[in-house]
Amino acid sequence: MGKSLSFITPSGRVTLGNYIGALSQWTAEPGNVYAVADLHGITTPWNPETLRSYIIEIASVLLALGLDQQGSMVYVQSHVPAHAEMAWLLECIGHMGEFQRMTQFKSKGKDRGDVSVGLFTYPALMAGDILLHDVDSVPVGEDQKQHVELTRDLALRANHLFGPVFTVPQPRVPGIGARVRSLKNPAEKMSKSVIDDGTVLLLEDADAIRRKFMTAVTDSGREVTYDPEAKPGISNLLEIAAALSHQSIEQIAAQYQNAGYGAFKRAVAEIAVETTRRVRQEALTLQSDPAEIVRRLDTGRRMAEAVANPKLRQVKQAMGFLLP
Ligand code: AMP
Repeated sequence: MGKSLSFITPSGRVTLGNYIGALSQWTAEPGNVYAVADLHGITTPWNPETLRSYIIEIASVLLALGLDQQGSMVYVQSHVPAHAEMAWLLECIGHMGEFQRMTQFKSKGKDRGDVSVGLFTYPALMAGDILLHDVDSVPVGEDQKQHVELTRDLALRANHLFGPVFTVPQPRVPGIGARVRSLKNPAEKMSKSVIDDGTVLLLEDADAIRRKFMTAVTDSGREVTYDPEAKPGISNLLEIAAALSHQSIEQIAAQYQNAGYGAFKRAVAEIAVETTRRVRQEALTLQSDPAEIVRRLDTGRRMAEAVANPKLRQVKQAMGFLLP
């Protein structure tokens, strides 16, 4: 497998869902690229102070996980101007029709009068993120697959028009991972944009995490068994406990089958607190030393620019910008 690229948008505080479904699976390996996608964080209205706090929080978590070690990099997208510039070049070879077909835009903004132009064009920014780093496969959820397909089309078109400048990437949709659901409403996914007691934040204190688990909704009956249809609340807790403790759902269910819901919830809360303790402490320690965060992000910026700037230059040369 080649190098891997993952961006996370600072559109809210980091949730336990982000940790289980994405962050905890990312690995520090030579050439891997991790970034805080702050330019993607402004496609909907934003507050500058809040945006800044989300960027710092996500950066502190990526660094606490050591994703800037072993030759892999962590940086903030806007610190590398090549991203914005590449997005413009790609917008100018993209077609209105293909962008209008993007289902994310259709579902999030199409019919709202005050929707930003950026929400419409952000697939070009995302295509630039991928193409600047010459990655050949991009791990994405089902909802982002269409954008990687658009990236392929833009890369093929550019290669056809201007010569072979881009590696054409493949979307890679990982097998179905745990999809963490709200503790209050297990019909919905746990989301950064819904902040209530159903959403556990990675960096909130241990007692707040315990309290949220203790007030999680459960189901009728008394047995702890895995049955997502009939017992969505208990099944969600089983999935969370299994993912965090690297055990199977069956193993956890067998262990707590007759323990009663209260004791089971207490046990899952402890698993959540303990398995995230190290990253939480490390991220909070980093946040108390912003200069260290800035220093490590700047190392990441330099590593990213060493790849992105020559690529942008090559593309601009092929497109007719650089003078002899
Ligand atoms: P988002 O917070 O939607 O920008 O997602 C950032 C990353 O976290 C993506 O890879 C998502 O698939 C993952 N993620 C977000 N929420 C959940 C969840 N509730 N369960 C599993 N993965 C999630």
